[in-house]
Amino acid sequence: MSASGHGIFLFYRILGGKLTQLEFTREVAVALLKVDPTPNPVNLALGTHSSTYVCSEMRYDGVDHYLVPAGKQRRCQVCKTNTTKSCSKCDVNIHEACFIDYHIKH
Ligand SMILES: [Zn+2]
Ligand SMILES: [Zn+2]
Repeated sequence: MSASGHGIFLFYRILGGKLTQLEFTREVAVALLKVDPTPNPVNLALGTHSSTYVCSEMRYDGVDHYLVPAGKQRRCQVCKTNTTKSCSKCDVNIHEACFIDYHIKH
C-alpha cells in the first residue's frame, strides 16, 4: 500500500495531522481492517450457491439456450474440463457434447 498510503498521509498532513507516517500508516491499517474485514468463507460459499440456484431455475426451460463462444476459458459445468464454449442464457461454460446433457433433467 506504499503508494496510496503515502498519498493519504500527505492529504492527512495538509489537514494538520500530527502523527508520523509510520504511526499514521498503522492507524490506516487498523481502520481498513475494521471497515473491510476478511471475507467470511461461509458467506462466500452461500453467494456461490445462490447464483448457481438462480441459473438452475431457467436451466431446463428449453428457451433461448444457444452455444456461443465464451469470453474466456473456464471449466465445463458437466465434465469439469476446460472449454471456451458457453450457454448464452445460463452464462456457464459448456462443451458442445455436454450442452444437451446440461439442459436435461436426469
Ligand atoms: Zn463438458
Ligand atoms: Zn442454458
